[in-house]
Amino acid sequence: MSATCTSEITSILEKAIEGAELDRDEIVRLLSARDGEEKEALYKAADEVRKACVGDEIYLRGIIEFSAYCRRNCHYCGLRAQNRDIHRYRIPDEEILSRAKLLKERSCTTVVLQSGEDAYYNTERLCRIIRRIKDETALAITLSIGERSYGEYEAFREAGAERYLLRHETASRELYRSLHPGHELEDRIACLRMLKRLGYEVGSGCIVGLPGQSIADLADDVLLLKGLDIDMIGVGPFIPHPGTPLGSHPAGGTGPVLNMLAVLRLVTKDTNIPATTALGVLDPEARRRAFAAGANVFMPNFTPDPYTAYYEIYPGKGPEAGAIAKASDSGYAVLFEGMGRRIGTGYGYRTRKACTPETQSCPGGPQ
Ligand code: SAM
Ligand code: SF4
Repeated sequence: MSATCTSEITSILEKAIEGAELDRDEIVRLLSARDGEEKEALYKAADEVRKACVGDEIYLRGIIEFSAYCRRNCHYCGLRAQNRDIHRYRIPDEEILSRAKLLKERSCTTVVLQSGEDAYYNTERLCRIIRRIKDETALAITLSIGERSYGEYEAFREAGAERYLLRHETASRELYRSLHPGHELEDRIACLRMLKRLGYEVGSGCIVGLPGQSIADLADDVLLLKGLDIDMIGVGPFIPHPGTPLGSHPAGGTGPVLNMLAVLRLVTKDTNIPATTALGVLDPEARRRAFAAGANVFMPNFTPDPYTAYYEIYPGKGPEAGAIAKASDSGYAVLFEGMGRRIGTGYGYRTRKACTPETQSCPGGPQ
């Protein structure tokens, strides 16, 4: 690698650490960081910002995938309505509740209720579940159930949900349209704005490595997430599912995801950023590396057997998910052993505290 390349990365990292805004070209340059010194410097800078802005805690958010029914047809997802080859299920309310209690016993302070876009769960049914979980566990409740109306989001909020995950998937309008026929990126963004207005902590994010996606598109993802002031940012690699139109395309790489996580930490500073399940499915070691490149959240899967294997967004997530849910605190700790990190005990809300890493010079140092 030439000294010019390294010093270019170094000066962009210094600028980010000092709190200055990065432009699109600078973000593209960081996202393009190459193996070796460039990536080392990027991840080290992100790790310093993570430490200064969100500390050493890793927050556990336990997921329950409560319904595999979906009315949409996203081109990448195995749950798409037109995929007739998967087993659809809905988990009975009592079982959802007992899993919520279990995940609380296993150090999770938040339950994430996730599903396809399933109209069976109307406002009344879902509010009933939210209220019961709140009354019986006092867990923080995150919903991840897709696009709904303002009135529904409002009712869920009043029932006790305080967080909502809705990835924008890609900031490229054209790519979004091609992956979601009949839907527009603007509709997704409108939902994110409604959720913000209602006082939710809002999570969004994108898939990395989608066919036809460029590094400039990923830079636009970063700028969109920053511009919307998103509180939690989930980014994972594209994993092909054979029962979808994208089934024969190659999976996204773990390297681009790690670069993306690091850049998001540098640009958004105090957000909550998980080391995602999809990253662990491609390479468990890459998920471990995510904790050293900006991530501060882990989302163990508490969907009970046999359902977890049926929630087939992409292949390969079932067995690993089951093993993690059976883990104890020390089981989770294996994921970040020797990294000076500890499991967070509070709810892990975004702190919004002003944060400046102690070092003002770029990690990796000027060459
Ligand atoms: N249905 C809700 C929604 O779409 O917002 C929540 C559940 S959906 C399964 C959760 C996320 O899975 C999506 O936002 C998408 O980013 C991700 N996903 C789906 N299929 C994927 C694939 N093949 N590879 C990587 N991520 C995928
Ligand atoms: Fe349904 Fe969500 Fe999968 Fe799209 S990503 S098909 S909305 S479950």
